[in-house]
Amino acid sequence: MPETELGTGVLVVGAGAAGSACAETLRDGGYGGSILVAGRDVDPPYDRPSVTKQYLSGEAAREETYLHPPGWWAEHDVDLRVRTSVTALDTQARAATLSDKTVVAFEHAVLATGANVRRLRVDGGQLEGIHYVRALGNADTIRAGADDAERIVVVGGSYIACEVAATLTARGRSVTMVAEEQLPLSRGFGDTAGAYFRDVLTSRGVEWAGGDALAAFEGDEHVDSVRTASGRSIPAQTVVMGTGVMPDVMLARSAGLQLGDTGGVRCSARLETSAPGIWAAGDICEYDSVLHGRRLRVEHWEVARGQGAAVARAILGSEQPYDDVPYFWSDLADWASLEYVGPAARWDREVVRGSVQRGEFAIFYLDGGRVAGALSVGRGDDLELARRQIADPSLPVEF
Ligand code: NAP
Repeated sequence: MPETELGTGVLVVGAGAAGSACAETLRDGGYGGSILVAGRDVDPPYDRPSVTKQYLSGEAAREETYLHPPGWWAEHDVDLRVRTSVTALDTQARAATLSDKTVVAFEHAVLATGANVRRLRVDGGQLEGIHYVRALGNADTIRAGADDAERIVVVGGSYIACEVAATLTARGRSVTMVAEEQLPLSRGFGDTAGAYFRDVLTSRGVEWAGGDALAAFEGDEHVDSVRTASGRSIPAQTVVMGTGVMPDVMLARSAGLQLGDTGGVRCSARLETSAPGIWAAGDICEYDSVLHGRRLRVEHWEVARGQGAAVARAILGSEQPYDDVPYFWSDLADWASLEYVGPAARWDREVVRGSVQRGEFAIFYLDGGRVAGALSVGRGDDLELARRQIADPSLPVEF
């Protein structure tokens, strides 16, 4: 098949949070050149947070998760190509090859390739009924499997695991969480918050099996139980893995871009990679944070959207470093909502405001007397206060 040659002003690789925000912001900012967005997913850009919440629960139809109506991309003169990956990137020739062999010459390229689930090598891991979560299609099979299952095990104690356990329990299913952490979400938020989230989950019927590692899956062709390191065998006909992701740097690595220390692509404070005019945003972006005084890589939807927008502004000529205070949120069904600013790499003191018992509280995480992060459950004003203090270290620390 002969190769087709195309030219574009901006080639966006990845049609997730960062890639879509970049294209939107370019057009909002008056960018007049052509934009090509290539994404591997079968769906046009959608709201990934829904995958573990409204879409998994069945509350939202597939189209309702789409960020824009189907005609939006053409109306905004964005050439959106779904089911399309970029297989090669030549930073010198400034050209990329798409999976259909089209060669695209570009002025700027934005790498927004996101992350892939980390598949665990565990005995029995090949059995049917074990699911990982990333895309809408995963939620379809999990929902179907969960509806047929008498019992479900969710592995992990972080965002995916807590959100999926809450959503499926609220849908009337029996869920046990198996996690290495003693308390859910405690790695990022500490034990006070972890105990609160455990109580939220268990009071609604989730069984929490924390402080225990996954040892093996058991069954013939289909999983029928999960064995833990402590020797428990927990019946489960459906298992959902919430065990982390790996930034997808395959294209960046093969293109010879410099990689960072956290598995991401090394970027400047303006999110430019080691090749001028080639940018990165979202889960793969390891940038010099002027706010934090260190290199940072953050894997969250809102952060990826903000970085995609920042790259668009840089392409439009802004010299500003990316200096958003990273913000993210999570919902456990309609039982509890959390918001967070930070991220705190470490902290030596927690200051609690409000009442954890009443489920209306904020925790400020202090490192050497400075606010490094804050968690809010229903305390938006405290979150704003923490955001200002992180953004401007010269402000006095007050509560
Ligand atoms: P994550 O936040 O990186 O947490 C990984 C979880 O897997 C932790 O509980 C970890 O336990 C556990 N784990 C790792 N290796 C394990 C093993 N060998 N056996 C058992 N457990 C293991 O990842 P995630 O919750 O899967 O979420 C995936 C990505 O989506 C993340 O980037 C996350 O930020 C993002 N996400 C964000 C939101 C949100 O912001 N609301 C919602 C969903 C997903 P240890 O800590 O003990 O290792």
